[in-house]
Amino acid sequence: MTGSKLDGKVAIVTGAAQGIGRGIAYELAREGASVVISDIATDIHKVAEEMQSEGYHVISTIADVTDAQQVEDMIETTLKEFSKLDILVNNAGIYPFMPMENMTQNDWDKVLDVNLKSIFICTHAALTELKAQKGSIINLSSIAGSVIGYEALAHYSASKAGIMGFTRATALEFAKYGIRVNAIAPGAIKTPTVEKAMSPEDLKASIKAIPLKRLGDPQDIGRLVVFLASDDSSFITGQLIVIDGGQTIS
Ligand code: NAD
Repeated sequence: MTGSKLDGKVAIVTGAAQGIGRGIAYELAREGASVVISDIATDIHKVAEEMQSEGYHVISTIADVTDAQQVEDMIETTLKEFSKLDILVNNAGIYPFMPMENMTQNDWDKVLDVNLKSIFICTHAALTELKAQKGSIINLSSIAGSVIGYEALAHYSASKAGIMGFTRATALEFAKYGIRVNAIAPGAIKTPTVEKAMSPEDLKASIKAIPLKRLGDPQDIGRLVVFLASDDSSFITGQLIVIDGGQTIS
Protein backbone atom coordinates (compact mmCIF):
# COMPACT_ATOMS: atom_id res chain seq x y z
CA MET A 1 0.00 0.00 0.00
CA THR A 2 1.27 3.48 -0.74
CA GLY A 3 0.24 6.86 0.60
CA SER A 4 1.19 10.49 0.15
CA LYS A 5 1.67 11.87 3.66
CA LEU A 6 5.34 12.60 2.91
CA ASP A 7 5.23 13.55 -0.76
CA GLY A 8 8.09 15.89 -1.60
CA LYS A 9 9.91 15.25 1.70
CA VAL A 10 13.51 14.06 1.97
CA ALA A 11 14.58 11.76 4.81
CA ILE A 12 17.79 10.21 6.14
CA VAL A 13 17.62 6.93 8.07
CA THR A 14 20.83 5.76 9.77
CA GLY A 15 21.52 2.06 10.40
CA ALA A 16 19.06 1.03 7.68
CA ALA A 17 20.81 -2.08 6.30
CA GLN A 18 18.49 -4.33 8.30
CA GLY A 19 15.94 -4.50 11.10
CA ILE A 20 14.06 -1.43 12.33
CA GLY A 21 16.00 1.04 10.14
CA ARG A 22 15.14 -0.91 7.02
CA GLY A 23 11.48 -1.04 8.08
CA ILE A 24 11.46 2.71 8.70
CA ALA A 25 13.01 3.40 5.28
CA TYR A 26 10.30 1.34 3.60
CA GLU A 27 7.43 3.09 5.41
CA LEU A 28 8.82 6.57 4.69
CA ALA A 29 9.26 5.68 1.01
CA ARG A 30 5.75 4.18 0.83
CA GLU A 31 4.39 7.56 1.97
CA GLY A 32 6.19 9.33 -0.85
CA ALA A 33 9.44 10.48 0.79
CA SER A 34 12.79 10.35 -0.99
CA VAL A 35 15.05 8.44 1.37
CA VAL A 36 18.79 8.31 1.95
CA ILE A 37 19.61 5.10 3.76
CA SER A 38 22.99 4.77 5.45
CA ASP A 39 24.87 2.16 7.44
CA ILE A 40 28.39 0.90 8.16
CA ALA A 41 27.41 -2.41 6.55
CA THR A 42 27.73 -2.65 2.77
CA ASP A 43 24.42 -4.55 2.72
CA ILE A 44 22.89 -1.07 2.65
CA HIS A 45 23.44 -1.00 -1.11
CA LYS A 46 21.41 -4.21 -1.53
CA VAL A 47 18.52 -2.67 0.43
CA ALA A 48 18.64 0.40 -1.84
CA GLU A 49 18.64 -1.76 -4.98
CA GLU A 50 15.69 -3.75 -3.65
CA MET A 51 13.74 -0.58 -2.84
CA GLN A 52 14.62 1.06 -6.16
CA SER A 53 13.38 -2.04 -7.99
CA GLU A 54 10.02 -1.46 -6.26
CA GLY A 55 9.94 2.07 -7.63
CA TYR A 56 10.95 4.02 -4.52
CA HIS A 57 13.23 7.09 -4.52
CA VAL A 58 16.11 5.76 -2.47
CA ILE A 59 19.88 6.09 -2.45
CA SER A 60 22.38 4.41 -0.15
CA THR A 61 25.56 5.62 1.45
CA ILE A 62 28.09 4.15 3.84
CA ALA A 63 28.45 6.22 7.01
CA ASP A 64 29.69 5.34 10.48
CA VAL A 65 27.52 7.53 12.72
CA THR A 66 30.37 7.94 15.23
CA ASP A 67 32.56 9.61 12.60
CA ALA A 68 31.74 13.30 12.10
CA GLN A 69 33.41 13.48 8.67
CA GLN A 70 31.47 10.48 7.36
CA VAL A 71 28.25 12.00 8.68
CA GLU A 72 29.06 15.32 6.95
CA ASP A 73 29.60 13.35 3.73
CA MET A 74 26.20 11.65 4.23
CA ILE A 75 24.52 15.07 4.43
CA GLU A 76 26.43 16.26 1.37
CA THR A 77 25.35 13.18 -0.60
CA THR A 78 21.74 13.89 0.42
CA LEU A 79 21.89 17.49 -0.78
CA LYS A 80 23.61 16.52 -4.03
CA GLU A 81 20.91 13.97 -4.83
CA PHE A 82 17.75 15.51 -3.37
CA SER A 83 18.72 19.22 -2.70
CA LYS A 84 17.29 19.41 0.85
CA LEU A 85 16.59 17.50 4.07
CA ASP A 86 13.28 17.41 6.00
CA ILE A 87 13.49 14.32 8.23
CA LEU A 88 16.39 12.84 10.21
CA VAL A 89 15.86 9.41 11.76
CA ASN A 90 18.65 8.57 14.22
CA ASN A 91 18.19 4.80 14.29
CA ALA A 92 21.69 3.20 14.23
CA GLY A 93 22.39 1.46 17.52
CA ILE A 94 23.97 -1.58 19.14
CA TYR A 95 22.95 -3.68 22.13
CA PRO A 96 25.71 -6.14 23.17
CA PHE A 97 24.30 -7.95 26.22
CA MET A 98 26.81 -8.29 29.10
CA PRO A 99 26.66 -8.16 32.89
CA MET A 100 27.76 -4.83 34.32
CA GLU A 101 30.44 -6.54 36.43
CA ASN A 102 32.18 -7.85 33.27
CA MET A 103 31.83 -4.60 31.36
CA THR A 104 35.05 -2.77 30.45
CA GLN A 105 35.41 0.95 29.83
CA ASN A 106 35.86 0.12 26.15
CA ASP A 107 32.52 -1.72 26.11
CA TRP A 108 30.90 1.28 27.77
CA ASP A 109 32.51 3.84 25.43
CA LYS A 110 31.59 1.88 22.31
CA VAL A 111 27.89 1.64 23.20
CA LEU A 112 27.68 5.26 24.35
CA ASP A 113 29.45 6.43 21.18
CA VAL A 114 27.31 4.48 18.72
CA ASN A 115 23.99 5.02 20.52
CA LEU A 116 24.27 8.51 22.04
CA LYS A 117 27.24 10.53 20.77
CA SER A 118 26.15 9.64 17.24
CA ILE A 119 22.86 11.44 17.80
CA PHE A 120 24.73 14.60 18.75
CA ILE A 121 26.96 14.21 15.65
CA CYS A 122 24.10 13.58 13.21
CA THR A 123 21.83 16.27 14.66
CA HIS A 124 24.64 18.81 14.56
CA ALA A 125 25.52 17.98 10.96
CA ALA A 126 21.89 18.10 9.77
CA LEU A 127 20.78 21.20 11.66
CA THR A 128 21.33 23.88 9.00
CA GLU A 129 19.28 21.91 6.47
CA LEU A 130 16.56 20.99 8.96
CA LYS A 131 16.24 24.66 9.95
CA ALA A 132 15.71 25.57 6.32
CA GLN A 133 12.81 23.08 6.02
CA LYS A 134 11.33 23.32 9.57
CA GLY A 135 12.15 19.63 9.73
CA SER A 136 11.55 16.74 12.08
CA ILE A 137 14.05 14.67 14.06
CA ILE A 138 13.14 11.21 15.34
CA ASN A 139 15.49 9.43 17.76
CA LEU A 140 15.34 5.71 18.49
CA SER A 141 15.39 5.27 22.25
CA SER A 142 14.09 2.08 23.90
CA ILE A 143 11.88 1.03 26.78
CA ALA A 144 15.21 -0.16 28.28
CA GLY A 145 16.60 2.74 30.27
CA SER A 146 13.92 5.29 29.46
CA VAL A 147 10.97 3.37 30.97
CA ILE A 148 12.19 0.19 32.70
CA GLY A 149 15.44 -1.41 33.85
CA TYR A 150 17.02 -4.14 31.77
CA GLU A 151 19.53 -6.71 32.99
CA ALA A 152 22.85 -7.04 31.13
CA LEU A 153 22.28 -3.75 29.33
CA ALA A 154 23.57 -1.08 31.76
CA HIS A 155 25.54 0.76 29.06
CA TYR A 156 22.69 0.50 26.56
CA SER A 157 20.09 1.61 29.11
CA ALA A 158 22.22 4.62 30.02
CA SER A 159 22.55 5.55 26.35
CA LYS A 160 18.82 5.22 25.67
CA ALA A 161 17.88 7.26 28.76
CA GLY A 162 20.45 9.82 27.61
CA ILE A 163 18.67 10.06 24.27
CA MET A 164 15.56 11.26 26.11
CA GLY A 165 17.51 14.05 27.81
CA PHE A 166 18.95 15.08 24.46
CA THR A 167 15.53 14.86 22.78
CA ARG A 168 13.86 17.14 25.33
CA ALA A 169 16.70 19.67 25.36
CA THR A 170 16.90 19.90 21.57
CA ALA A 171 13.09 20.02 21.22
CA LEU A 172 13.17 23.15 23.41
CA GLU A 173 16.13 24.71 21.62
CA PHE A 174 14.87 24.00 18.09
CA ALA A 175 11.20 24.91 18.60
CA LYS A 176 12.04 28.47 17.55
CA TYR A 177 13.16 27.08 14.17
CA GLY A 178 9.95 25.09 13.71
CA ILE A 179 11.91 21.83 14.11
CA ARG A 180 10.20 19.10 16.14
CA VAL A 181 12.27 16.47 17.97
CA ASN A 182 10.71 13.26 19.31
CA ALA A 183 11.86 9.85 20.46
CA ILE A 184 10.47 6.36 20.09
CA ALA A 185 10.80 3.68 22.77
CA PRO A 186 10.23 0.26 21.20
CA GLY A 187 9.78 -2.87 23.24
CA ALA A 188 10.88 -6.19 21.72
CA ILE A 189 10.94 -5.89 17.92
CA LYS A 190 11.63 -8.79 15.59
CA THR A 191 14.95 -7.92 13.91
CA PRO A 192 17.86 -10.15 12.81
CA THR A 193 19.96 -9.08 15.81
CA VAL A 194 17.17 -9.78 18.31
CA GLU A 195 16.38 -13.12 16.70
CA LYS A 196 20.06 -14.12 16.91
CA ALA A 197 20.31 -13.08 20.57
CA MET A 198 17.17 -14.93 21.71
CA SER A 199 16.86 -18.66 22.40
CA PRO A 200 13.44 -20.22 21.66
CA GLU A 201 12.81 -20.11 25.44
CA ASP A 202 13.71 -16.38 25.61
CA LEU A 203 11.38 -15.73 22.72
CA LYS A 204 8.53 -17.57 24.42
CA ALA A 205 9.11 -15.68 27.68
CA SER A 206 9.23 -12.34 25.83
CA ILE A 207 5.94 -12.96 24.06
CA LYS A 208 4.36 -14.06 27.33
CA ALA A 209 5.29 -10.70 28.88
CA ILE A 210 3.64 -8.74 26.07
CA PRO A 211 -0.14 -8.23 26.46
CA LEU A 212 -0.66 -8.17 22.66
CA LYS A 213 1.14 -11.57 22.50
CA ARG A 214 3.59 -10.91 19.71
CA LEU A 215 6.91 -9.17 19.09
CA GLY A 216 6.70 -5.90 17.18
CA ASP A 217 7.66 -5.68 13.51
CA PRO A 218 9.99 -3.07 12.00
CA GLN A 219 6.94 -1.94 10.06
CA ASP A 220 5.15 -1.05 13.33
CA ILE A 221 8.01 1.33 14.13
CA GLY A 222 8.08 2.63 10.55
CA ARG A 223 4.43 3.65 10.75
CA LEU A 224 5.06 5.56 13.97
CA VAL A 225 8.02 7.31 12.34
CA VAL A 226 5.76 8.34 9.44
CA PHE A 227 3.33 9.83 11.97
CA LEU A 228 6.08 11.74 13.79
CA ALA A 229 7.60 12.95 10.52
CA SER A 230 4.30 14.13 9.03
CA ASP A 231 2.00 17.06 9.75
CA ASP A 232 -0.34 14.64 11.56
CA SER A 233 1.90 15.20 14.60
CA SER A 234 2.51 18.93 14.07
CA PHE A 235 1.81 19.81 17.76
CA ILE A 236 3.97 17.03 19.24
CA THR A 237 7.55 17.73 20.26
CA GLY A 238 9.97 16.56 22.95
CA GLN A 239 7.98 13.38 23.58
CA LEU A 240 8.84 9.73 24.10
CA ILE A 241 6.32 7.47 22.38
CA VAL A 242 6.33 3.93 23.76
CA ILE A 243 5.52 1.17 21.26
CA ASP A 244 5.74 -2.16 23.03
CA GLY A 245 2.47 -4.11 22.73
CA GLY A 246 1.66 -3.10 26.30
CA GLN A 247 4.75 -4.67 27.89
CA THR A 248 5.48 -1.78 30.24
CA ILE A 249 1.92 -1.36 31.51
CA SER A 250 1.59 -4.90 32.78
P1 NAD B 1 19.97 -4.16 14.12
O1 NAD B 1 21.21 -4.65 14.77
O2 NAD B 1 19.06 -5.15 13.46
O3 NAD B 1 20.33 -3.02 13.05
C1 NAD B 1 21.13 -1.95 13.42
C2 NAD B 1 21.84 -1.41 12.20
O4 NAD B 1 22.72 -0.35 12.64
C3 NAD B 1 22.74 -2.46 11.51
O5 NAD B 1 22.47 -2.48 10.13
C4 NAD B 1 24.15 -1.99 11.82
O6 NAD B 1 25.09 -2.28 10.79
C5 NAD B 1 23.95 -0.48 11.97
N1 NAD B 1 25.01 0.15 12.73
C6 NAD B 1 25.63 -0.32 13.85
N2 NAD B 1 26.61 0.52 14.21
C7 NAD B 1 26.62 1.54 13.31
C8 NAD B 1 27.41 2.70 13.14
N3 NAD B 1 28.43 2.99 13.97
N4 NAD B 1 27.15 3.52 12.11
C9 NAD B 1 26.14 3.23 11.25
N5 NAD B 1 25.36 2.15 11.34
C10 NAD B 1 25.61 1.31 12.37
O7 NAD B 1 19.19 -3.32 15.24
P2 NAD B 1 17.63 -3.07 15.40
O8 NAD B 1 17.10 -4.12 16.30
O9 NAD B 1 17.00 -2.84 14.09
O10 NAD B 1 17.65 -1.71 16.24
C11 NAD B 1 17.60 -0.43 15.60
C12 NAD B 1 17.45 0.65 16.66
O11 NAD B 1 16.29 0.42 17.44
C13 NAD B 1 18.62 0.69 17.65
O12 NAD B 1 18.90 2.03 18.01
C14 NAD B 1 18.09 -0.10 18.83
O13 NAD B 1 18.72 0.26 20.03
C15 NAD B 1 16.63 0.33 18.81
N6 NAD B 1 15.76 -0.62 19.50
C16 NAD B 1 15.61 -1.90 19.04
C17 NAD B 1 14.76 -2.78 19.71
C18 NAD B 1 14.52 -4.19 19.23
O14 NAD B 1 13.83 -4.95 19.94
N7 NAD B 1 14.99 -4.58 18.07
C19 NAD B 1 14.10 -2.35 20.87
C20 NAD B 1 14.28 -1.06 21.32
C21 NAD B 1 15.11 -0.19 20.62
